[in-house]
Amino acid sequence: MTPAPAPALLNAALTAAARGWPVFPLRPGDKRPAGHPERDCRRTGRCTDGHRTPEQRATLATEHITTCWQAAPYNVGIATGPAGLVVVDLDIPKPGDGAPPEEWAGACDGLDVFAMICERAGELLPTETYTVRTRRGGQHLYFTAPAGKALRSTGGSLGWKVDTRAWGGYVVAAHSVVGGAPYEIIHEARPAPLPAWLGDLLTPRPAPAPMPLSELSARMRNATAYSTAALRGELEKVLSAREGGRNRAVYFAAYALARMVRHGDLTEADVTSELLSAGQSLGLSAGECRTAIRSGLIRGGAPEAAAA
Ligand SMILES: [Zn+2]
Repeated sequence: MTPAPAPALLNAALTAAARGWPVFPLRPGDKRPAGHPERDCRRTGRCTDGHRTPEQRATLATEHITTCWQAAPYNVGIATGPAGLVVVDLDIPKPGDGAPPEEWAGACDGLDVFAMICERAGELLPTETYTVRTRRGGQHLYFTAPAGKALRSTGGSLGWKVDTRAWGGYVVAAHSVVGGAPYEIIHEARPAPLPAWLGDLLTPRPAPAPMPLSELSARMRNATAYSTAALRGELEKVLSAREGGRNRAVYFAAYALARMVRHGDLTEADVTSELLSAGQSLGLSAGECRTAIRSGLIRGGAPEAAAA
């Protein structure tokens, strides 16, 4: 695929930097960062004192940018965290992605889901902001980050096909060309401040205190000590799951506990209610949790779930 001519990309990098958004090079015609990933780092050159991530390397310096983009037709990455941006990334499904989860039934893409999120929050879709159309037809809505909150990137925690790029992430800047298709500005405006309600949704909840076994036993009056300990072990795994892996953790916990439900050592209602609380305390929606729990129980062979 032919990358865009170098002067256009140099201009794109300089334009982003002029807005105060630190940039770093992406591979020509690609959306992956140029340079080596951390696992291949030889601790030489710029990495002498430890590997430097694209977020750490991103720069506003005209001279550095000019030298870099004159060397090759790099695409432009914007380090959203240092740029003070939160970019809402509304994706469109890839072939084979299937239908959206039940919670988002009827949605065709991330934009539909984002509209539903806004409606459920009783808010208007915030469209009056700098917007880039991605090469596959998705949209990047740029917002300025709230002061005093270092929001992290999220992957799907707001909803199906809705990611956010903030600290720990980056976006492909307008005028970059990936796989022959360009990223284009579709609304040239100043980035609006991130709506406060959206900032609240993106603020991680504090990790819940570990559930004491004694308290859990009191709730599980009919369960054996062994099955209560197993449940607690699974709850701990869920509670320590990382962003992006939490839904899977709930599914696998339900799957692991299905055997005890089948043997009558735990009830489906108890497993469901405990995993639901754990999942929700991590910011998963009730719908997501219930779907994951039910799928895990069915896959694990719990009889009541299979009959439901
Ligand atoms: Zn390195």
